[in-house]
Amino acid sequence: MNYIKKFEQLFAEKYQMRQSFSFWKGRVAMYAILKALGIGPGHEVILPGYTCVMNVNPIKYLGAKSVYVDIEPLTYNINVNLLEEKITRNTKAIIAQHTYGYPCEMDSIMDIAARHGIPVIEDCCLALGSTYKGKLCGSFGKAAYFSFQWNKPLTTGIGGLAITNETHLADKISEICEQEMNKPSFKAAAMLSAQRLVYRIFIYPRTTAIATNLFRWLTKKGLVIGSSSICEFMPEMTEDFFMSMSGSQAQAGLRQLRNLDSNIAHRRIMRIIYDKLLDESGYNISKVPEFMDPVLVRYPIRVNNKEKAIEEAPIHGVEIGSWFECPLHPAETPMHLYDYQEGMCPVSERACREVVNLPLHPRVSEKTVRRTIEFIARFIPVS
Ligand SMILES: *Cc1c(COP(=O)(O)O)cnc(C)c1O
Repeated sequence: MNYIKKFEQLFAEKYQMRQSFSFWKGRVAMYAILKALGIGPGHEVILPGYTCVMNVNPIKYLGAKSVYVDIEPLTYNINVNLLEEKITRNTKAIIAQHTYGYPCEMDSIMDIAARHGIPVIEDCCLALGSTYKGKLCGSFGKAAYFSFQWNKPLTTGIGGLAITNETHLADKISEICEQEMNKPSFKAAAMLSAQRLVYRIFIYPRTTAIATNLFRWLTKKGLVIGSSSICEFMPEMTEDFFMSMSGSQAQAGLRQLRNLDSNIAHRRIMRIIYDKLLDESGYNISKVPEFMDPVLVRYPIRVNNKEKAIEEAPIHGVEIGSWFECPLHPAETPMHLYDYQEGMCPVSERACREVVNLPLHPRVSEKTVRRTIEFIARFIPVS
């Protein structure tokens, strides 16, 4: 069996899903699901107003309208109290994005969706292994999608996958793939393989900022496969968007799947260490309900001078991230082209100004966590 089929099968098994489909990127997986659901002009798709533009593009590509719900400040997920008022006769899907790995309030979302007969799609790009009331995020909705981009819990450089248990939907996705999907060029696949190698060698917590800047620069020069290009800040689909996963991506994915359980266990432990150390230092850390078991991709935390924290972190050899910098990350997004007006989601806008995220990927140790907290503590507001 080839790597792609094997990767898809193994992933589906992990999630006990009937079917899975691999793609060049997570956003392509999302597009395939939405298209298979028949979403098009005149339709509305609901998602949190704390997301990235790449996660809105597939909605726009299909000619539908994106409708944003503000988030709640603890988990950065859809505030379920604001969800129902956004539903109209034209609402055809709700995207439950499990932000940073925190599970959405799934009982309420599924309940509201069922009452209105609207399918729920789970965005699990940041939530591999998180559970809600003992059930895996990704197994609640009609379908779910994942991303394997550099910053995600499991990475194949770039990559994406959709899972579903619904036979009809799976058949539709198959059909769309058969009709429309292109294969990545040999060059693109080979460049990505080379990048994975470089990544394995260079990305350590102390050097990530330098490596990331180098990658960005090379991307601008067209020398690496960046996760996004300039044209993807426009709500129009490019010809090479709908692309399949390459064999070497799938091979990397298979390697990573073998370590998935220890990857998840590590993230869980590091999150608990962050919680504990911050708690001991007297900081008021966010506590999610007991029935949520988040596996975080990065550890979000509110600071009082975000700009300064980000600027100083590399000098101290500390790896600090900043998503989301605006409700439709990144800051360059022309928001008006994406149905977002300033002030629509005030809780999200505040989070964009205040939240940075700390690393807990497999290369982060307890020592890294201590060093990171020592640095960031100066920026945490005393409550
Ligand atoms: C990364 C990400 C995506 C898109 O994934 P790509 O593989 O980069 O297309 C979608 N949603 C969320 C929440 C993400 O973090």
